[in-house]
Amino acid sequence: MKIHEYQGKEILRKFNVATLQGVVAHSVAEAVAAADDLARKFGWPVVVKAQIHAGGRGKGGGVKVVKNLDDARAAAEKILGMMLVTHQTGPQGQKVHKLFIEQGCAIARELYLGAVVDRVNGRVCFMASTEGGMEIEKVAEEHPEKILKEWVDPIVGMTGFQARNLAFGLGLEGKQVGKAVSFLQNMYRAFVETDSSLAEINPLVITKDGDVVALDAKFNFDDNGMFRQAQLGDMRDPNEEDPRELEAKEFDLSYIALDGDIGCMVNGAGLAMATMDIIKHCGGEPANFLDVGGGADERKVTAAFKIILKDPAVKAVFVNIFGGIAKCDVIANGVVAAAKQVGLKVPLVVRLEGTNVDLGKKILADSGLAITAADDMLDGAKKAVAAVKGA
Ligand code: ADP
Ligand code: MG
Repeated sequence: MKIHEYQGKEILRKFNVATLQGVVAHSVAEAVAAADDLARKFGWPVVVKAQIHAGGRGKGGGVKVVKNLDDARAAAEKILGMMLVTHQTGPQGQKVHKLFIEQGCAIARELYLGAVVDRVNGRVCFMASTEGGMEIEKVAEEHPEKILKEWVDPIVGMTGFQARNLAFGLGLEGKQVGKAVSFLQNMYRAFVETDSSLAEINPLVITKDGDVVALDAKFNFDDNGMFRQAQLGDMRDPNEEDPRELEAKEFDLSYIALDGDIGCMVNGAGLAMATMDIIKHCGGEPANFLDVGGGADERKVTAAFKIILKDPAVKAVFVNIFGGIAKCDVIANGVVAAAKQVGLKVPLVVRLEGTNVDLGKKILADSGLAITAADDMLDGAKKAVAAVKGA
């Protein structure tokens, strides 16, 4: 699960990680009032920031530093409701529903700080770099030596030594070092105690007064930890999530929307991955990853099939089922029920194998639906790709 910058900063504040003052705004009027209030307390400039679950907002025109109320209003009017295009949103962009109005910052240096779960080492890895504001992927590619790393022992936590190592590596001096050490140690606690899978402060700034402050905040949380993170669940913003993925979650389906045109319905994550691979191998593009799960019942299969058919990009559907725990007849009933409810307008290729396969095939054959039967997975993928190319 992802959250907005303003929510990430709420978390940081809870763990005593230094941030600036700011207020979330849902309308231009709220934005102007917030800017006025912040300017009275801290002076101009104030910063108007689009809140979407994607980075690169600054470059896309979603972050504006303003010096008076008129400019604040103009920036809020422009950004609120815009389709903000960044390198992370795709070309269609993402609609801005909220703004974060933040106290302006006199920036001396922009640094980078990131934390991820390193599964190979079984530790949280902190990464820091002097190349703040830049895309870290680019730094990693072109100047990997500029990324400092510390792997944190889960028993001990982030030690003073490790934090100082990063601080000195970033070229901090004097009082900045102490401030960076508490920043890093508190940040580590914030990461672990919220079951984060990724946290990024880009930029981490050194202010002209020598303070160490988080100017941006991005958090991703491990969905498997959400059951014990109820307060984080409230931060979920459905505006930012793919409606098909939300619907899939309701039915406990593992569904990820992709850019291709062959809808896939598969049981088992491994088979679903292999299905996407084999479609690509045959020259096609999967429209989604979908694992209906081992214990899929008819209700779930119907829901899954409906979600696939709702995607206007889907030009053919490939059902690839190996009935182990899931039974082929149950899958077939679900497919038929959904196809009848939604109306099947695209070619459907089905490969069934395993438990109750004959019964499953009979249900499909008797359904009156136009189904292309496949002998095996490769045959099915070829037929699905051919169906799309013919369409
Ligand atoms: P994004 O990463 O999505 O572009 P950021 O929050 O990192 O958004 O903001 C982009 C840039 O805008 C920052 O690198 C910084 O230079 C500037 N900026 C952001 N917030 C402030 C602020 N409160 N005061 C001054 N400058 C800011
Ligand atoms: Mg940023």
